[in-house]
Amino acid sequence: MEENKIVLAYLSVWLTLLGAVFGSFTACAVSRWAAGEPPFRGRSRCVTCGHVLSAFDLIPVFSWVVRRGRCKYCGAGIPVDCLAAELAGGLSFLILGLTVPLRELGQWLIWAGLLLALSLADWARRLIPDRILLTLVVNRIVWFVALEGDFSGIFDILLACLVPAALLALILLGEWLTARELMGGGDIKLLFALALYLSWAQLLLTLLAGCLLGLVFAALLGKKRDAAVPFGPFLALGGLFTVSLGAPLIRWYFGLF
Ligand SMILES: [Zn+2]
Repeated sequence: MEENKIVLAYLSVWLTLLGAVFGSFTACAVSRWAAGEPPFRGRSRCVTCGHVLSAFDLIPVFSWVVRRGRCKYCGAGIPVDCLAAELAGGLSFLILGLTVPLRELGQWLIWAGLLLALSLADWARRLIPDRILLTLVVNRIVWFVALEGDFSGIFDILLACLVPAALLALILLGEWLTARELMGGGDIKLLFALALYLSWAQLLLTLLAGCLLGLVFAALLGKKRDAAVPFGPFLALGGLFTVSLGAPLIRWYFGLF
């Protein structure tokens, strides 16, 4: 028992670090992509003075705290997005490590990493890149074959796909009636990609949690911001909540009937 706890603590520390490093790397790649540069080329630089950053400047969270959020070379503030992405990466990897079955951990870590990347992209440019969605689909296919062995799970996936399909039909009807865009195409595509991973009940909980989080955020923001709030990051948060902590909630709900 004690030995299990030590292994768990060890795994938790490494997963948190891995997530934070991944978050740092992704935030950097996405900020380059948003600026119209190739995302995976060149060294990391300060966004203000352009000074090439050393390995010591790039330790997730730690470097930010030590420098109090300022560049060592020019003193300009480091964008808080980077710290947020590091924390989000570290925390999501840690939460998944503590909650999902160990044999499925690889699938869910890649899933969370891709969701973080598309959230940052959606936040920066109000756009969910198809390349990330496609990687999400490929990741699920690979793990589906590796984990399930047979194809009996296909029926559940088709059932889950009915959720975004029904939503798409409703939205198209609403857009036809009101003659304005109600939901971005990227969000619908993301829901279809999530349907490959989640049961229909999990997907509904994800949608509900995402909407609630988005509404709370929009309310907190008030009228300070004119641009529409991107939905991708909130769907991703809803998905993380559902996968790690949603099972008792779904059981409780079905127990009501
Ligand atoms: Zn600088």
